[in-house]
Amino acid sequence: VQLIVRNAEVEGVGVVDVAIRDGRIVSMEARISAHADDEIDARGAALIPGLWDHHVHLFALAASHHSVSLAGLSDRIALVDALHAADRRLPPGVPLRAVGYDDSVAGSLDRSVLDPILSGRPVRVQYRTGGIWALNSAAIIELGPGPYPPGVLLNADGTPTGRIVRSDDWLRHRLLASPPRLDRVAADCERFGIIGLTDTSVTNDDDAAHILRDAARAAGMRQELLILTGNARDRGRGYRLGPVKIVLDDDRLGDPADIARVIADAHAADRAAAIHCVTLGELAVALAAFEQAGARRGDRIEHGGLVTPDAAESIRDLGLTVVTQPGFIADRGDRYRAQVDPSDQPYLYPCGSLQALGIAVAGSSDAPYATFDPWAAMRAAVTRQTRDGFVLGAHERIAPRAALGLWLGRPEDPGRAERRVAVGLSADLCLLHRPFAEMLEALSADLVRATIVRGAL
Ligand SMILES: [Zn+2]
Repeated sequence: VQLIVRNAEVEGVGVVDVAIRDGRIVSMEARISAHADDEIDARGAALIPGLWDHHVHLFALAASHHSVSLAGLSDRIALVDALHAADRRLPPGVPLRAVGYDDSVAGSLDRSVLDPILSGRPVRVQYRTGGIWALNSAAIIELGPGPYPPGVLLNADGTPTGRIVRSDDWLRHRLLASPPRLDRVAADCERFGIIGLTDTSVTNDDDAAHILRDAARAAGMRQELLILTGNARDRGRGYRLGPVKIVLDDDRLGDPADIARVIADAHAADRAAAIHCVTLGELAVALAAFEQAGARRGDRIEHGGLVTPDAAESIRDLGLTVVTQPGFIADRGDRYRAQVDPSDQPYLYPCGSLQALGIAVAGSSDAPYATFDPWAAMRAAVTRQTRDGFVLGAHERIAPRAALGLWLGRPEDPGRAERRVAVGLSADLCLLHRPFAEMLEALSADLVRATIVRGAL
């Protein structure tokens, strides 16, 4: 026996010893006398299935840990201070990413401005408006040799100035040659009881997914990965291949018939489709496309940022799964209250009303765009409280047990049958410091005592 968790409270079972061998639960008894390589006494605390984050962007999350915000700086001195302070916090060699820059701070940035400020590590500054980057020389070297696309501005001698305009896809692809390390992401997974993640980055293809898989291994992550990719023909070796991800552009929504073809291609390749829908316009096009192509089990609406009751009925009729992020209500709710049309506010990130209709709803973080802490997101699903303490969509609140359940789905078909703690099943578990009822009351990451992935603590 690999591991025995003694005196653990298992929901629906009671307090038992749980024995694990070869990554599976092999017995659950009041008292197991066998000897194990490793033992832990739960002292009556809850042992639950580990959490699965059904929508996250791992590299962006890792990069955000190495990011500094330059928003609201007053002048060049403040810029220099902010970059130097971030430089002191980071391990040597790790690229520094700065976001939110505006020319009003210290004028237009390029390598000739950045190098004198910081040259010892790659520095990439993203403008507040997005679409424009300024790089120092170390960051330019990291991009590799030319030829460069037109958005990489060049000096007369053909060398990059360090200014890159509207070339985000190219830049992201080049940067994959030196991806951010996932060590802190791995540590956070342990801290939160996360045993698996679904990466939904737009840029994922076979190559990017392999790089992600390798980065996870390099960080010692044992968590399982389900990866959404953009192409129905991607193969997915060494990780679980998820639905085909379809991103709609709210400015150019396009013809539902075109999107229906992408859905049909995914289904023909025996994959589900996952459509990114934040706005009502995106949702309308996505639903029209699913109507045309037909839906299959596992087809998903990512986010469901705004869902009217009519649209919810279509989602139910099509049998689609909604992968929601309650964390946005906490993190951005105050901004929504100020900026979203008041008549739309009742439809923001619905949860309870969808579940009441029988729609499969799965929980996720969308980190780094909302908190990676699943427990904070569960609390938001229960309270619907914004940072400033307003309640946004009281009718969408769900019970603590239901909030926990959002993270207990099966990766390929989340939001329906939950994973369980039972003999014969995989030992992907989360051990808490307190019994089940107390855990539900607190829904706090502080109560996570250990994360067990395939039987290993
Ligand atoms: Zn996302």
